[in-house]
Amino acid sequence: MSAANRYLVSFDARDTFHRFTDVLVIGAGIAGLRAALEVPPDLTVLVVTKDRVTESNSSYAQGGIAGVRSPEDRFEDHVEDTLIAGDGLCDRTVVELVIHEAPHQIDKLIEWGTRFDEENGHLALTREGGHSHRRIVHALGDSTGFEMMRATISTARTRPNIRIWDDTFTIDLLTHTGACVGAVVARNGMGKFLIWAKQVILASGGCGMVYRETTNPPVATGDGMAAAYRAGAELRDMEFMQFHPTVLYVAGSARYLVSEAVRGEGAYLRDVNGERFMPAADPRAELAPRDVVARAIFRTMEKTQHLNVYLDLSHLDPAMVLNRFPGINRACKSFGLDITKDRIPVRPGAHYMMGGVTVDHQGRTTVPGLWAAGEVTSSGLHGANRLASNSLIEGLVYGTLCGRGATDAIRKMPREMTALPLRCAIPPAEMDARFDIADLTASLRSLMVRNMGIVRDRTRLLEAKENLRFWCRYALSRELDSKAGWELQNMLTIARLMIAGALARDESRGTHYRSDFPTRDDARWGLRHVTSEPFVALA
Ligand SMILES: Cc1cc2nc3c(=O)[nH]c(=O)nc-3n(C[C@H](O)[C@H](O)[C@H](O)COP(=O)(O)OP(=O)(O)OC[C@H]3O[C@@H](n4cnc5c(N)ncnc54)[C@H](O)[C@@H]3O)c2cc1C
Repeated sequence: MSAANRYLVSFDARDTFHRFTDVLVIGAGIAGLRAALEVPPDLTVLVVTKDRVTESNSSYAQGGIAGVRSPEDRFEDHVEDTLIAGDGLCDRTVVELVIHEAPHQIDKLIEWGTRFDEENGHLALTREGGHSHRRIVHALGDSTGFEMMRATISTARTRPNIRIWDDTFTIDLLTHTGACVGAVVARNGMGKFLIWAKQVILASGGCGMVYRETTNPPVATGDGMAAAYRAGAELRDMEFMQFHPTVLYVAGSARYLVSEAVRGEGAYLRDVNGERFMPAADPRAELAPRDVVARAIFRTMEKTQHLNVYLDLSHLDPAMVLNRFPGINRACKSFGLDITKDRIPVRPGAHYMMGGVTVDHQGRTTVPGLWAAGEVTSSGLHGANRLASNSLIEGLVYGTLCGRGATDAIRKMPREMTALPLRCAIPPAEMDARFDIADLTASLRSLMVRNMGIVRDRTRLLEAKENLRFWCRYALSRELDSKAGWELQNMLTIARLMIAGALARDESRGTHYRSDFPTRDDARWGLRHVTSEPFVALA
C-alpha cells in the first residue's frame, strides 16, 4: 500500500474552533443513535452526521429486523442460519450474543415508539432468504428503516444530554500517542472544528457507493473506515461485499432495492425467456442465500446475453402483494410497472459491506479510545456473507455495547479535558485545476463493478490494483477542500483495501467468488481473516 497523508486536511489546534464532549458519536444511523441513547444523562454526547439526520442506510432498510419471537422458532435455528450464510467465517460467540439479544432490542424499539406491523394482535413475522422460520419484524409494509429511525431520532431528540449536529463531515479521527482523542470535522458553512472527546464511537456505516450499481444512499462512501485506517486501526474482511440480487433495473430510475421479502412471500425469478432458473441452481431455489442468488443471476444474464432478469409476483394474491409492498409498488408504478401483473426487471447491486474496522466482543477497535458499531465494523457476526435482516440488529446490539463500554471507560478517566497541540500541514499540490473529482469518482465506481464485482479473478484484480495505485499516487497526496473530494479519497483508500483482500484470498467463500479458485479451501483458509496492512503516512 503506497503512502498517503495521515490527515486529509491541514489544521492547527491553535487557530481552529474547539468543541468538547464526553462521547463523540460519528454517524446517526441506527448504530450511532443506539449508542448515544445508552450513555447515561450525566455524560454529554455529540452525534455528528454528514447529511440530514434521516440520510443513512438505516433509514432505507426495507425488509425488517430478524429476531426469534414465535413459539415455533428457536435461538439455535437463528444461530445456525446465520452460521450457514456466513460460510465458515462467523465468530460463534458473537452470533450467539447478537441473536439472544435481538428480541430485547426489538422491544426497546417498540418502547421508543416504533410501530411494527401486526397480524391478529401479534407482531407480523415474515421470512427471507436463508432463514428457516418466519422471524422478521417489519413496519409500514416494506419501510421498516423509515419507521424505526423516525421513532429513534424522536427519542434521541428528547434527551437533554444528546446533541445532534447534521451537515457535519468527519474528515479524520484525531490521535495522540496512539489513542483516539476526537475528530476534525467540517461543519456546513462554519468551517473546520476540532472535537475533543473522552471516548469516540464510530458508526459511520458502509461503502456501497464504491460501486456504480448500489442500493446504498450517497452518504455510504466508507469515510469512517478510511479515517479509522489512517488513524491506525486494523480493518479486515474487506473482500466481502454483499451484492443484493434484486435491484430495480430501469433506465432513468435510481437503483431501488426490491426487498428479499418479495421472494420470501413467494415471488419467482425468471430469465428473459420466462424460465425459472433458481430451482436448477440451488435446492432452496429463490430462498437461497444472497450470494447464491446473485451469482445465479449473473450467470443467467451471461447465458441469455440480457442485461437483467425478472421478478414475477403475478401468481400471488394481488391484495397481499399491494398490502405487503406499498413502497416497491410506488417505485415500480412510477415506471409504468404493475407489480401484481408485470415482471419487474432486476439485477444485482452492491448492498452491504461485511468487512470493516475490526472490533472485539465489546465493540473496541484496535485504537484505544475508539469504539465502533454497525456496518462500519467487522464484528464476526456476518462472516463471509450476511444473513438477510441481521444487520439492523447488529447495529442495535453493538451500539448498546459501545455506549456502555465508552461510559465505563469515561468513569475511570479524569473529569477535565483540554485541547492538545495537534497540527498537520500538507504542502500545496500543483495542477489542481486539472484534477476532476467527479470524473475520477465515476471511473473508480465503474472499475469496481468490472474488476471487483460478483465474479473475480487474479488478472482483473491485478489490473484494478494497478489502476488504483496510479490514481492514489496523485489523488491521496494532495489536500482537497470539498466533501466530494474527501469522499473520493476515502473511496480510493477503501477500494485498495478491498482489492488487496480479494487478491490475498485465493479461494471462494461467501460473497467472495474467484473464478480461478472456485471452491472453499478450509485446509488453507479455515477461520483466517485477511487483515489490512498497517497504514503508512507520508513523511
Ligand atoms: C436499501 C437498503 C435496504 C436494507 N434493508 C435492510 C433490512 O431490511 N434489514 C437489515 O437488517 N438491514 C438492511 N439493510 C442494511 C442496513 O440498513 C444497514 O446495514 C444498517 O442500517 C447500517 O446501520 P449503521 O448505523 O451502521 O449505518 P448507517 O445507517 O448507514 O448510518 C451511517 C451514518 O454515518 C453518517 N456518516 C457517514 N460518513 C460520515 C462522515 N464522514 N461524517 C459524518 N457522518 C458520516 C451517515 O450520514 C449516517 O448518519 C439495508 C440497506 C439498504 C441500503
